[in-house]
Order: sequence, then C-alpha cells, then structure tokens
Amino acid sequence: MITLKEALKLDKGELKELKKDLKKKIEEKKELNAYISLDESWDGVPIAIKDNIQVDGWSVTCASKILQGYVAPYNATVIEKLKEANLAPFGRTNMDEFAMGSSTETSYYGKTLNPKDFSRVPGGSSGGSAAAIAAKIAIVALGSDTGGSIRQPAAFCGIVGMKPTYGRVSRYGLAAYGSSLDQIGPMTQNVEDAALLYDIISGYDPKDSTSANVKKELVSQNLNPKRKFKIGVVPNYIKDASKDIQKAYDKAIDALKEAGHEIKEVSLMDAKYDIAAYYITAMAEASTNLSRYDGVRYGFRAEAKNLKEMYQKTRSEGFGEEVKRRILLGTFVLSSGYYDAYYIKAQKVRSLIKDEYKKVFESVDLILSPVAPTVAFEFGSKKSPLEMYLSDVYTIGVNLAGLPAISLPVDENSEGLPVGLQLIANHFDEQTLFDGALSLERTLNR
Ligand code: GLN
Repeated sequence: MITLKEALKLDKGELKELKKDLKKKIEEKKELNAYISLDESWDGVPIAIKDNIQVDGWSVTCASKILQGYVAPYNATVIEKLKEANLAPFGRTNMDEFAMGSSTETSYYGKTLNPKDFSRVPGGSSGGSAAAIAAKIAIVALGSDTGGSIRQPAAFCGIVGMKPTYGRVSRYGLAAYGSSLDQIGPMTQNVEDAALLYDIISGYDPKDSTSANVKKELVSQNLNPKRKFKIGVVPNYIKDASKDIQKAYDKAIDALKEAGHEIKEVSLMDAKYDIAAYYITAMAEASTNLSRYDGVRYGFRAEAKNLKEMYQKTRSEGFGEEVKRRILLGTFVLSSGYYDAYYIKAQKVRSLIKDEYKKVFESVDLILSPVAPTVAFEFGSKKSPLEMYLSDVYTIGVNLAGLPAISLPVDENSEGLPVGLQLIANHFDEQTLFDGALSLERTLNR
C-alpha cells in the first residue's frame, strides 16, 4: 500500500484512481469487518477515522446501538486539520463500544478479524483502524487511546500506533470516554507517516479546555534517527510477559545498542496499581460522560409510556453489557461513602505513578516497554472482564501519567503473529519519541 508521504504528492486524478482501488479492496476484504461505513465523496488523500470522532454530516456510532441514526452536526478539530492538509475522511472504522475494551469484540456492529489470523482479535478498542492498515485497505487512520486503544491494536496487527502527550491533540469532537485520559493519535504503516500525521492533527485548540497551549515544532521535518539516547528498560515489567514478548524485547535492546543508544535498567512500581487506578478513574469518568445518552438528545430512543420508562428502556436496550458494567461501577466509585475509598484513593495512586515516571525521566530519555503481555489472543479467550482488564497492564500507566508513547512492530512469533513494543517519552517530547522509534525501525529493517 502507498504510504501517506507518497499519497500526499498525488494529483487529483491519481487520488481518484486510488480511492476507486481502495473501495474495491475494501469490498474484497469485507469479512474483516474493519469499516462501519464508507463515504468516498470527500476530496483528498483517503484516511480511515475511528467511529468515535465527529465528521460533519456523517453518522458517528461509537459502535453502539444508542447512537443509531445520529448524524454529527460539526467537524472534530482533527477533521478540520486533516482537511486543511488535503486529507479526506473515507471510512469509519469499527471499535469496542464507546472505546471500552481491548479486543473490538464489544462492537454493536460485530467483531473485526485480525488480518494476520482470523481466529484472533485485532486488539482494541481501535481494532478496525489497525486491521484496515494491516490488511492494506487503509493508508493511514486515526484512533483514540484512553488506556492503550491505539498502541495495543497496532501491536496485535503489526502496524505503528502513537499516543500523543495529553493535551497535544484536541479532543473537541471526540466522543468522551475518560476525559482526563483520552487522546486521538495516528495509526500508520511506518514511523515516518506517524510523525507526518501527528504534525497534521496536533496543536493548541481553544475549543478544548484541556488542550495545551505549548509551542509546537514540526517533528516530521526534524526527524533525526542518528540522535543517541539513554533508554530505560524495565526488568520488573518484562518478567511477567510471555516468551514471545520477552524475545522481542531482547531483540529490540540489541537493535537499540547496535544503533548506538545506551541501555539503562530502571524500575517502575508494580503495574497492578496502574490497573486499579486506571479502571476506577476511567469508569468514574465514563459514568458521567455517558449520562448524556438518554434517548432525548441523540440517536436511538425506545418506545415507552412515560419519560422515566423512556430513559430506562433506551439505556437498557441501547447500551451493551460492558458499557453498562462500567456505568454501574463508575457510579458506585463516585457515590458518597465510597468516593474517598475508591475515587480519591485512585487519584492519589495516579499522582504517585506520575511522580515515578518523572523521576525515571531524570535519568533516561526514553523507556522501552511491552505493549501487551501476549500477542493477539483468540476470540472469546478472555473469560471474565477482569481478565480482559489485566491485559492492559503495560499501556495504561502512560495514560495515567499523560505521557506520549509509540507502539511499533519489532518481531514475529513462531506462528507469524506480530509482536509490537512501545517507546515512552517525557511530556511534550514527541521529537525524541519519533527519533528513537525511527532509529529502532531502521535498525530492525536493515
Ligand atoms: N482497554 C482499555 C479500556 O477498556 C483501554 C481502552 C481505550 O484506550 N479506549 O478501558
């Protein structure tokens, strides 16, 4: 598949051909179920958009029944920025309902298959975007990452996925899940395209009160894979990962050393605290964010005799099981009597996690870490919600701390399944992140 860098050089006629070709290929690979809807009427380089980002005049489903029939009345800021750069939303990609999940199995529109092995999940929640790129039915895509939803599907499908520093990319027009954690980011075929797309979508936006008003340099124009870094590795993390992941980790360390980087052992506190702090925070925020879907303002409305029954039936029928579980748990941890014991405590743990990363970044420029404990798992193999939550152990700390991170393919296991690892950088140091990732990518591909 043509890269974003190449596609940006095409003229109008060539782009028309490209879109025709893309549409044909999407049709041929329909069984993957990577897309929820298509619209080829826009002008520009076609880009796949996760179905929780608003595109004016187009449905935005969040892969939920509750948004059935809802049409976005405005463009998300990232969509405006894409248009300015001559990119055109082309298809809406499948996801876990309201981005809650790690496998894309909770979509109301059915699961997406992993193009590398149809019996396995593509990861989640941005599983449609990752599968589309891996199957060569998208050039680039946007995903969103609250606790790993860009990086983990990227790792499971063998593509590149990047989560910017919290506040770097406007969340205006992104359906809110965990507002203090959510970031939109690029999903691409390679590191250079990720830098290009990151440059296009990032920047201060007064429409998002959490957007950071910090100076923005164009990373793609300053990419330098020759810079040498001190890279932290985390022995107490890697010991719990599968053999496949450990092997890839060693391979990446060798490649980084070969490229001239210095490797330094660091330690981070047991990631079980990340799981607890993340799920309490994300569910608390989700329970308030999702209260707006009441049958009055958006999409689906159930038939009912009176207003109260309408609310109840709409929410009972409109939300899937996982979303309901989170609304209930989120409401519980915010309820008086439990607020201090759960929510406040989680915020204290979150502060500790932030402080810990801050300390580690006093002695290293980047951290190398697994993205997930295993390669892509089989459909239905996670038997309980808790088992699924635990698989997010390596990605959520980054969101709690608001750091930028990039997941890139490093290895394949004996069955040919991709293994991705992530690099993590300090706040707003995306240049170092991309330079390090490019250096690793080039050394591995040599
Ligand atoms: N798997 C995590 C969750 O379910 C992260 C999802 C995401 O990043 N949107 O919350």
